[in-house]
Amino acid sequence: MENTKKELLSLTKEELEELLLSIGEPRYRAGQIFPQLHKGLSPEEMTNIGKTTRAKLAEVATYYLPRVKRKLVSAIDGTVKYLFELSDGHAVESVVMHYDHGTTICISSQVGCAMGCKFCASTIGGKVRNLTPAELLGQVIAAAKDSGERIDGIVMMGIGEPLDNFDNVLRFLTLVNAEGGVNIGYRHISLSTCGLVPQIDKLATYKLPITLSISLHAADDETRDTIMPVNRAYPVAELLSACLRYYKTTGRRISFEYTLIAGKNDSREQAAKLALVLNRALRTRTETMPIHVNLIPVNEVEETGFKRAGAQAIKQFAATLEKNGIRATVRRRLGSDINASCGQLRREDLKQNS
Ligand code: SAH
Repeated sequence: MENTKKELLSLTKEELEELLLSIGEPRYRAGQIFPQLHKGLSPEEMTNIGKTTRAKLAEVATYYLPRVKRKLVSAIDGTVKYLFELSDGHAVESVVMHYDHGTTICISSQVGCAMGCKFCASTIGGKVRNLTPAELLGQVIAAAKDSGERIDGIVMMGIGEPLDNFDNVLRFLTLVNAEGGVNIGYRHISLSTCGLVPQIDKLATYKLPITLSISLHAADDETRDTIMPVNRAYPVAELLSACLRYYKTTGRRISFEYTLIAGKNDSREQAAKLALVLNRALRTRTETMPIHVNLIPVNEVEETGFKRAGAQAIKQFAATLEKNGIRATVRRRLGSDINASCGQLRREDLKQNS
């Protein structure tokens, strides 16, 4: 009956109540157990829960926290990168970053990724599987437990495409926001997508006040097709229409990510085109969405051959956007000495073990 056991960290407090009732325990036990699970304690470690209750719980449910397989700490800025091992031996990465406004964790949403973006290390071996809600939440809990730090915000920008794991990600958002648990406000959560239009529309219907980020990386289909296969299914115009619908439905502005690759998408003309396309799509007669573009010099991944845009090109790109009414910032590179960008540690680990 092993495979019918529930993962305790995937359950809402109400579902935990139901589970406890089903094994003859009082409902109020959930109030004792739920907060401890979310602090990183397994039922066996809960001193205020009786032995028989713990044994009954172990018969119907499992508790697994991602195990720290490797941990790298940046000597430059204290950024911590974890390679977490999951219960089936697969590994994903999470990164803890320190900002003036608090501590943010970047988590993975899948083991590998099916999206195939040409510059990205996470997608090289394809997608292995989705992470469960417990594994999504487990990264946050395990990192907080290991570091002893309070986590203030979450970005879903690690390995994987979160909207390709829609239901589990949605459940995770509810769980991480839950009172008595980690309790992180939706406004402190960002979700990044390469642009799966139907799922963006679906997400909008939940009206969660999270921040949606779109990985755009090119404003014309010709360029975007060559670096992001998803563009052939959902080209730029369709994607930006979905962004406007999302904004209208949720009232939440969207931020755009633009990875600068030398000679590929970093010219002055491409910056002007980006500004034009964004302004046209998102600043209509009836709606004017504030637009912000994050410029990210590409992290060079051995297998891809792409090179970072030069400092001058980056400056010029940002200036061209600003001149055309688009706010742009160049992302600070945290943890540059530990290869903190996602997917690279897992790849290294896979190579070593193959
Ligand atoms: N699948 C989601 C989230 C994970 S990737 C998405 O595509 O948004 C998080 C961000 O890192 C995305 O903007 C992605 O395009 C970017 N990224 C991936 N590889 C990169 C690299 N080598 N250098 C810089 N940014 C990269």
